[in-house]
Amino acid sequence: MPKHINVALIGNPNTGKTSVFNALTGLNQKVGNYPGITVEKKEGLCKLPRGVKAHIIDLPGTYSLNASSLDENVVIELLLNKNDKDYPDVAVVVSDVENLKRNLLLYTQIKDLQIPTILVINMSDRMAYKGIHLDIPYLEEQLQTKIALISTRKGKGIDQLKTLIANFKELPTTPCLNASEIDPEYFTRLKKAFPNQLVYKLWLVITQDVNFGKIDRNEVDALQSFKTKSKADLKRLQQKETIKRYQFINDTLKKGQTIDLKSAKDLRIKLDRILTHKVWGYLIFFAILLVLFQAIYDWTEVPMDFIDSTFASLSEWTKNVLPEGAFTNLLAEGIIPGLGGIVIFIPQIAFLFLIISILEESGYMSRVVFLMDRIMRRFGLSGKSVVPLISGTACAIPAIMATRNIESWKERLITILVTPFTTCSARLPVYLIIISLVIPQGRVLGLSYQALTLMLLYLIGFGTAIFSAWILNKVLKIKSKSFFVVEMPNYKLPLVKNVALTVLEKTKSFVFGAGKIILAISIVLWFLASYGPSDDFNNAEEIVTTSYASENISSEELQQKIASHKLEHSFIGITGRAIEPAIRPLGYDWKIGIAIVSSFAAREVFVGTLATIYSVGSDEEETIKNRMAGEVNPILGGPLFNFASGISLLLFYAFAMQCMSTLAIVKRETNSWKWPMLQLVIMSAFAYIVALIAYQLLI
Ligand code: GDP
Ligand code: MG
Repeated sequence: MPKHINVALIGNPNTGKTSVFNALTGLNQKVGNYPGITVEKKEGLCKLPRGVKAHIIDLPGTYSLNASSLDENVVIELLLNKNDKDYPDVAVVVSDVENLKRNLLLYTQIKDLQIPTILVINMSDRMAYKGIHLDIPYLEEQLQTKIALISTRKGKGIDQLKTLIANFKELPTTPCLNASEIDPEYFTRLKKAFPNQLVYKLWLVITQDVNFGKIDRNEVDALQSFKTKSKADLKRLQQKETIKRYQFINDTLKKGQTIDLKSAKDLRIKLDRILTHKVWGYLIFFAILLVLFQAIYDWTEVPMDFIDSTFASLSEWTKNVLPEGAFTNLLAEGIIPGLGGIVIFIPQIAFLFLIISILEESGYMSRVVFLMDRIMRRFGLSGKSVVPLISGTACAIPAIMATRNIESWKERLITILVTPFTTCSARLPVYLIIISLVIPQGRVLGLSYQALTLMLLYLIGFGTAIFSAWILNKVLKIKSKSFFVVEMPNYKLPLVKNVALTVLEKTKSFVFGAGKIILAISIVLWFLASYGPSDDFNNAEEIVTTSYASENISSEELQQKIASHKLEHSFIGITGRAIEPAIRPLGYDWKIGIAIVSSFAAREVFVGTLATIYSVGSDEEETIKNRMAGEVNPILGGPLFNFASGISLLLFYAFAMQCMSTLAIVKRETNSWKWPMLQLVIMSAFAYIVALIAYQLLI
């Protein structure tokens, strides 16, 4: 008896695989990626009767073994590769009692691979409601397997399932139908050529367009001779196979399943009619969005402020307690604020996913996706891109994490790439101060110019996202089938356990995935802002004190002047000066340059950096606004922040990728540095060009 058996959970999307997985593993699970691709891999441990331990994998949802997406490839590659360390000792096919017919297609295919297979029929709690009756012994006999009729919602049948898994050796491995009948001559020939191989496995290898690098090369070569049939012929045979399978399933269900429609209730039909209505559907959806937003903004403010002030006091405390020195500074000004910069996002991330997973669990999200899909598809996006694009107005990080449920890799990638264009809340402080400086206060039709400008910036952000999606859709040559299965799960009360685990998992994956990168860049930026190469930096206190010796200024003011002098001569300050020639055509001076460089970490740093440079306390907004208003353009004279340079700055911040956290999360989600770097370069270049044109036209 092996102590560790491999169990693979396989099934159509939405049949409850993840719920079964959660029921079996509880908190003993981890989430990663399959090597080299971005499909999520969930695995966990489960203790079974008689001391058997099982290693369980929750495989991506798949409709059949005829791969049409990256997710499905994962399943097939695993099932065809006996040498894979995850190759299942037993396959658990999870099906939904309400969609047995469609679900069983995959089951019969897996049976043909002669892997010991258990059929789980989930959602048994829905049977009474839908008037469904099953003859389990008959089904077990026809399907050549053991069946576990369970409900993860009610926690029923899980123990029986565990027992079945532990006794997997007793399962028959015979196929339940003879697929080779679709072309007996061809299959007999195949069998003769590879007497030691499973014919169905060979057939899959011949017809699939997936990566079979893991399979024996000789076999693949030998198989070439069997690809003599044209692609169209193979396709026709595949269709014949599918039809044959459905015939078998229909016959089986005819006797094994009875549905008494009269006892079924039709609340679902009424709800669907309203929620996917051409007018009401959209209105309800936007109302829900409004609430979602309001909630993300309002309800996370308190915890975020709390985290902010806690980390500020922690850093203050560290400075007071530890001896003065480089290490203390690193800790107090680099590491602690860096950690704070990660933790501060947790409330928004947790909250967004709480709401999204409730919407998903309840079945409502599928209606929204259905509703939006037609519109979004025109731009190369998916109906599921709606949520990320909208959550992006709060923060791009949870938004990009919310793209995970988009099946098509291309659509998901495009959504990830364009989401940072939507106006996130970190842009607001920058927008607000610049708008108040350069946009006149008048009104048109009762609407203030300033408010209109802000709204316009939101629209520009959203428009650019959609437009660049359209371009990316034309440019990106990624083979990724975009399939849209109109499938509406039933309305349900969300399972608390599923919701809680989703929130926990997303938060964890943010903290450990993107967090590391954010922390590292914070430390680097801290170093660049706190050290400088010249005497000007090292002797800042002396220099500033001497030059203001004759003037009567308070010690607080003096400290601010010193900080300003230091920042000016730090590495960041030097960089800001160095890029001045490049940003002068945009209407900026080196001080703005420093603010742009240091706000690479996070846009909202812009205002704070200017405050330091102009040596004003960062919380006195009025003062910094006055200071900015009084700044003179060193070359042209006149105010530095005028209409032309103001608009140019607004546009720069609208388009530039000034957010390392977003870059970190894109790296995490795409599993490569290529996409975040491309995003950084293209968005920055675009921002630069637009800002340049705007300034040159307006000046
Ligand atoms: P997966 O896509 O196969 O991983 O399926 P999930 O585990 O995410 O579940 C899909 C939906 O079915 C979720 O909304 C679950 O809450 C719901 N669900 C899962 N198990 C049951 C069950 O036993 N009864 C009912 N009524 N719903 C369930
Ligand atoms: Mg799942």
